[in-house]
Amino acid sequence: MRDLVDEPGHVRRGLPGHKVVVVAGGAGFLGSALCARLIASGQTVICIDNLLTGSADNIATLLRHPRFRFIQHDIITPFTIPGRVDEIYNLACPASPPRYQADPIHTFRTSIDGSLNLLALAERKEARVLLTSTSEVYGDPEIPLQSESYRGCVNTVGPRACYDEGKRAAETLFWEYGAHRGLETRIARIFNTYGPQMDPADGRVVSNFIVQALSGKALTIYGDGSQTRSFCYVSDLVDGLIRLMASDEKMPVNLGNPGEFTMLELAEKVQAKLGRRSAIVFRPLPQDDPRQRRPDITRARLLLGWAPTVPLDRGLELTIPWFAQRLGVDLQHETALVS
Ligand code: UDP
Repeated sequence: MRDLVDEPGHVRRGLPGHKVVVVAGGAGFLGSALCARLIASGQTVICIDNLLTGSADNIATLLRHPRFRFIQHDIITPFTIPGRVDEIYNLACPASPPRYQADPIHTFRTSIDGSLNLLALAERKEARVLLTSTSEVYGDPEIPLQSESYRGCVNTVGPRACYDEGKRAAETLFWEYGAHRGLETRIARIFNTYGPQMDPADGRVVSNFIVQALSGKALTIYGDGSQTRSFCYVSDLVDGLIRLMASDEKMPVNLGNPGEFTMLELAEKVQAKLGRRSAIVFRPLPQDDPRQRRPDITRARLLLGWAPTVPLDRGLELTIPWFAQRLGVDLQHETALVS
């Protein structure tokens, strides 16, 4: 087993009462936002990431912080960390369809072997451990509003199966360790999340539309654009994860924004925010692409006192400038956003 921190003194611990938190996948879009929030609230953070889809840029500022430590490691290989660990978040897995389909076996192993290695770490450290599962456990849902009791409609042998079935199996592992081995496990089912620091090239619809609109290219709509998604702003999602970790709830909890939009409506919104009309091109709908997705967040409201606060319009206004800066586009000319 690989010992990931060979100089235990290197990670500066916080004041007594502060937590030592491991974030697997901490250099990803969501993981880096979680790391930043944990550091800001005074915790010590050990970020583990293989940088397959995460990026050192996402944690560049955090790397200078004395309570932050980055370890490049793939969690499918067993590892340990010396010293105290209080909480472990498992966000490690490529999450956009093109990226998780690029190496499906590795994606599957990340959910299974990676989860087993983190659960083993949690058992050794007597730490709480949270899995970021996904709305993909519902597959292509047959019902318009997905609550946690819905068992889903997943193709076990399609292009999305490596992600969907990997996460479903990871939920089972977390549930078993929680129910029968006494671990303090938590399971978040995350719906589509967006915001600054999304990878502009990872192929997700929000990043694709913004990048395409800013670059003067046609927006690519897959299928006829009538399929729906519910988009949650990143800061809301991070808040939900931290509340879930602090709660006593071991059963899965949906985290997402129930505002539901077709892809055509999303394209309209992005164009409206930029005050410019882009061409739209229609491309084939990928196999097994879910037709609808909307979270029932009743349990999150009741158990965590959580609900999203950033509507899609506001979230896009916060996200587009980050992409513009990244692409070197001057938004002064985009009247809709700077007024
Ligand atoms: N999509 C689209 N154009 C794009 C990228 C995606 O119309 O350029 C569609 C995709 O087919 C899906 C929805 O947008 O119906 C959300 O796709 P995304 O990859 O963001 O997330 P997921 O399918 O995992 O929800």
